[in-house]
Amino acid sequence: MGIAGRVVHRCRLAIALLALAGHAGTVLAQLAPGEDAAATLAWADANKTSDHRDFLETLTRLGSDAPRLTEKQLAHLRYLEAWQVAYAGDYETAAPLLEAVVGSSPDKVLRFRATATLINILGIAHRYQEAFSRLSELTDMLPGVTDPQARLQGLGEAAQMLATAGQYDLAADYAERMIQNTPAGDSACKGTYIKLHALYLGKRIDGSDASYAQGIANCEAADENLIANSLRADVAETAIHDKRPRDAIEILEKRYPAVLNDSYPRLISQVESLLAQAYWDTGNADMAGKYASAAVKSAPGGDSSEPLAAALRTLYLIARDHGDFQAAMQWLERYMQADKGYLDDVSARALAYQMVKQQLASSRMEADALDRQNQILHLQREVDRRSMETSRLYIVLLLTVLATIGLWLVRTKRSQLRFMRMARRDSLTGICNRQHFVERAQQALLASQKSGKPSCLVLFDLDHFKLVNDTYGHSEGDWVLLRVVAECRDHLFQEDVFGRLGGEEFAILLPGTDETTGTKRAEMIRAAIATPPSGGPSSAHVTASFGVACTLRHGVDLDRLLVAADDALYGGKSAGRDRVVVAVESADTGKAPPPAVTMEPEPPFGLARP
Ligand code: GH3
Ligand code: MG
Ligand code: MG
Repeated sequence: MGIAGRVVHRCRLAIALLALAGHAGTVLAQLAPGEDAAATLAWADANKTSDHRDFLETLTRLGSDAPRLTEKQLAHLRYLEAWQVAYAGDYETAAPLLEAVVGSSPDKVLRFRATATLINILGIAHRYQEAFSRLSELTDMLPGVTDPQARLQGLGEAAQMLATAGQYDLAADYAERMIQNTPAGDSACKGTYIKLHALYLGKRIDGSDASYAQGIANCEAADENLIANSLRADVAETAIHDKRPRDAIEILEKRYPAVLNDSYPRLISQVESLLAQAYWDTGNADMAGKYASAAVKSAPGGDSSEPLAAALRTLYLIARDHGDFQAAMQWLERYMQADKGYLDDVSARALAYQMVKQQLASSRMEADALDRQNQILHLQREVDRRSMETSRLYIVLLLTVLATIGLWLVRTKRSQLRFMRMARRDSLTGICNRQHFVERAQQALLASQKSGKPSCLVLFDLDHFKLVNDTYGHSEGDWVLLRVVAECRDHLFQEDVFGRLGGEEFAILLPGTDETTGTKRAEMIRAAIATPPSGGPSSAHVTASFGVACTLRHGVDLDRLLVAADDALYGGKSAGRDRVVVAVESADTGKAPPPAVTMEPEPPFGLARP
């Protein structure tokens, strides 16, 4: 049985008295105005065992003024209340109260302390599996807790629970940490006891070890007599095992009154049981019987312990020795029961510890597996992200290449179009060049023919243009050519085809036009050209001679039309220039081309200066 159990059992007795006293004189009052709730809580915490009556009163006062407390203070109060319930021995009620504090306290230290207290009462209530589960939480929390008292409490709880599970070396390690963590000026008595007792149970040392004498001396110096006597019990037990029963009697008899005075049933029962064994070994059956009976009476009810089993065995041996077989059978039966109960408890604790350990190991393995899965997922995501980036890069690259190709295509197409235009247009005037005029004129002639409409070809040549160049210069001549083209355009329709056949010779195809209309339109253009320019860069005045050949008379063959119109034009030149001559004779007739119709110009031809 660990010290925790001993202390709680001891407390259970004490609280029975105090609870009665508390009922008689409880004064229900709230906190005094201006009273520091945190300080009051700290006082109550520090004095919960030493000044239990005031502690209870303080709890009531704090409880009736709970709305004034902060969340942290309220959690502290709930912890002290739960501790009080446990102290009073009502473990079943205390456990959920403590669990609530563990689950809700904003204060890490308080959660830790509540867990330690919870483990203690779960152990006493034989709820070992829960106790060990909580113990694992406690040891996980331990590195984050710096409060020295809380650390000592946690380390102590861990050491004792591990000892009850038969994990003696681990228990001794935790006890050693308790000793190391003892605040300066405090006694390391409790840690020393847990360590020595764990090593003793683990058969690492026995009661003759020098550290026992040292431990007993230290605990006595610290006025921890109960713990000093607990250490003496181990020393006496070793003496009995070593066939030195008189040494054991000497050690224990001297302390027996003090042990009784401490009113801790476990230790009383243990000391009495050991004395019974020691006296039995010396052959003193009377004293052995007296102490064995006392041990059975002192043993805390409900629990099967090693001292109880040992005392029952001694009583059995005494009865058997006296030949009282009926009594012997009864003691033997009770001894067997107690021994079995005790051993069952020991194995239940060891089993619970191993089960929790297995559960933790498997849940850790699960967590590890999950962790690895997460890592793989993470890596997968990273890979996906990277490949996405790479694909994006490829897409950008591809788009850039496509855009470049597109741009190149557009540019190529543009220059192609430019070249095409250049190939089709006359570079000075921008109208169709000879070749393009021929192509378009042929298309237009065919289209008109298909729709059953006539067409006319008008050819004209500037008169004495050489003289313009000679008189005003070549560039002035160019301006004249541009002005002539502009005048013509003013008189043309969308479907008309206009071209420069070379030098100062031009041609116009008028689709859908009969000879009369064609001649009239040629005359209008002639008149426009012959009109002296008003303003503009060139002041040179020119005229032009026109030849008109239409399809109704000459057919739709362009070459024939050109020849006919040319003949008419030169007829016009011969006839005095600046006039329109309609070709009435077929070009193939071979007849001289006297103009059948000549439209005489109104003004005289020639060069004129405005
Ligand atoms: P005609 O009335 O008999 O047609 O006399 P003409 O002087 O117009 O005829 P000719 O064929 O003797 O002269 C044509 C002139 O046109 C010769 C050339 O200098 C000029 N010419 C041809 N192309 C261009 C050009 O692009 N720009 C300029 N300024 N003159 C050109
Ligand atoms: Mg000319
Ligand atoms: Mg000419």
